[in-house]
Amino acid sequence: MMVLTRKMIEIRTILNTVGQGGALTLPSIVVIGSQSSGKSSVLEAIVGHEFLPKGTNMVTRRPIELTLVNTPDAKAEYGEFPALGLGKITDFSQIQRTLTDLNLAVPAEQCVTDDPIQLSIYSPNVPDLSLIDLPGYIQVVGKDQPIELKQKIADLCDKYIQPPNVILAISAADVDLANSTALRSSRRVDPRGERTIGVITKMDLVDAARGADILSDRKYPLRLGYVGVVCKIPQSAGLFSRTGQNVTSAIVKNENAYFSAHPLEFGPQSELAVGTTTLRHKLMHVLEQTMAGSLATTRDAIVQELEEATYEFKVQYNDRPLSAESYLAESLDSFKHSFKEFSEHFGRPQVRALLKEVLDQKVMDLLAKRYWNKPVQDLAPIQFEADPLAELPKADPNSLYWQRKLDASTGELTKLGVGRLATTVVAAELQSQVDKLIASSTFAAHPYAQRAIVDAASSILNDRFYSTSDQVENCIKPFKFEIEVENNEWSKGRENAGRVLKSELKACDGAQKQLEDAIGKKKLRDVMGFIDRVRKGDVVLEGDGTGGAGGFSSALLQRGREAVFLRDRADILKMRLMAVKSKQCANLKNKYYCPEIFLDVVADKLTSTAVLFLNVELLSEFYYNFPRELDIRLGRHLSQDEIERFAREDPRVRKHLDVIRRKDMLELVLSKIESLRQLEGRAKQPTTGA
Ligand code: GDP
Repeated sequence: MMVLTRKMIEIRTILNTVGQGGALTLPSIVVIGSQSSGKSSVLEAIVGHEFLPKGTNMVTRRPIELTLVNTPDAKAEYGEFPALGLGKITDFSQIQRTLTDLNLAVPAEQCVTDDPIQLSIYSPNVPDLSLIDLPGYIQVVGKDQPIELKQKIADLCDKYIQPPNVILAISAADVDLANSTALRSSRRVDPRGERTIGVITKMDLVDAARGADILSDRKYPLRLGYVGVVCKIPQSAGLFSRTGQNVTSAIVKNENAYFSAHPLEFGPQSELAVGTTTLRHKLMHVLEQTMAGSLATTRDAIVQELEEATYEFKVQYNDRPLSAESYLAESLDSFKHSFKEFSEHFGRPQVRALLKEVLDQKVMDLLAKRYWNKPVQDLAPIQFEADPLAELPKADPNSLYWQRKLDASTGELTKLGVGRLATTVVAAELQSQVDKLIASSTFAAHPYAQRAIVDAASSILNDRFYSTSDQVENCIKPFKFEIEVENNEWSKGRENAGRVLKSELKACDGAQKQLEDAIGKKKLRDVMGFIDRVRKGDVVLEGDGTGGAGGFSSALLQRGREAVFLRDRADILKMRLMAVKSKQCANLKNKYYCPEIFLDVVADKLTSTAVLFLNVELLSEFYYNFPRELDIRLGRHLSQDEIERFAREDPRVRKHLDVIRRKDMLELVLSKIESLRQLEGRAKQPTTGA
């Protein structure tokens, strides 16, 4: 017989995970009673352990869905909170502490919540039962409690005592039954007393005749009857409970002693139901009957629900199967694919261009520092209509000064740490490309995977960094001593130097134009004129100009200084550009005269050599190892839970997975119900056949 209950409880548990409730569940036994009616004591007597939260303040703020599972062959007794994943808890005082914590986690102003705590207890000493413990009804609201508490508890209980649940209404014998809140509530929803079991606790506190009277109550007759109990844990057994031992037998012994001391009232002739053991049997029997009675309705509800889930799966997801694993595998594949595509388009030519651009900037700055480091007035005191080169130092190829100047500039370029610089630039580019690939992949919605991918990339790049930069540095070593330049290299360098200067000039003009637009042409001209006069010493600035000067605000002066800087820079750039374009610079022989071109050629040689090694040491290595590293970090290393968590980060995927899970669960439950009905049919056969 009990196999059925067990299986039905199993089904109920699965249905709970599908959620929603309503007809999509199987009935349970709902335990209600006033505070101090002895409700906890009854539940603990059934379980055989003290495990419910105690205390003067109301501690039960959430329903406890208690599933008892009889494990006849097991020795150990333990509890599990399936939603918390804490594993098996054999220490019942720890279960008690956890329940207290879970209750206290409900904010005081919320009083109570209908979000249930699920607790399963496995023991050879418990019957298969499904019980829901609710907060006890209160008569008067305590000093520190919110006014609405009383009503909130009543509402919560009302929600649970609806059909088809069985109501276990607890009342204490020493309180007039007419005043029992539990019975009053139950009567409202079950007026004919068809699904209520009355439990009268504290039978030892009234005299036996009065006790017997209560049990045969006629004012609110219950089809399932009243059971009288004495659930107080005897003093001596309190010790057991503290040592974790089962106290059922101690309670039963104590209880039996009381009832057998009054054979007249409670003996077999009285036909009154008394004792915790009787109560347990009644509960098992009633639950089985009730669950079995609901099975057909529940089955129909499941069939309908399943149809809806199947329809949603078809219409919204085109029956496309999906699992967290397959989603991860597909995402990873497509990411690797896009990475491969990127790698095919980012090779030596691209690295070369990247690197050359960085070195171009270095050359620009270096020349500005070594050659063009004086105010433009000193470099070309006369106007630009004149040939500025006429005013530029004549760089005599035989002059040691000009030779040294160029050698020093070249040395600074070759010794600036090209190995490190080049490796840094390329590694940073790879890392930023990986970031871009992530942003346009499914991983964009998955912070966990993003981190894993970024870490995979940086770990490979970091691993390769020092050896690559050393290698590159070694290979450019010859250029630190001597540099041979061919004619064709010179013309290419001349072209490039011109191009770089031009684009720099354009940027400079652009910035100047922006200032002009922001301030106005005339105003900017005025403030620049003022700054020029200050610089020439025609005007003396009082203080540092932070409070404004010459009728200009300090902000305006600041902008003016920027504009003057940009104008001077543009002038110098124009001059450099003219030098590069000049006839003299067409010829390699005039290299001391044309450092812009010479250094461009050097930068180009450095770039070509560096690229050769970067390609082998960094790029190829990265392209080979990165996909493998991804497989390890996002494939093999993840546990089932992590994969699940990963997939659920994306709301769309979560919904898709949920529909499938719901469908699977409902199918599973349905098949379980079908096999249960067969089992039931077979169980009935011999009797009908006889
Ligand atoms: P709850 O607030 O309804 O959960 O009530 P408890 O189970 O905590 O019981 C309230 C008080 O009544 C406790 O001090 C129990 O020890 C005591 N109590 C419970 N059942 C019995 C009983 O059958 N007989 C006696 N004498 N006391 C009981």
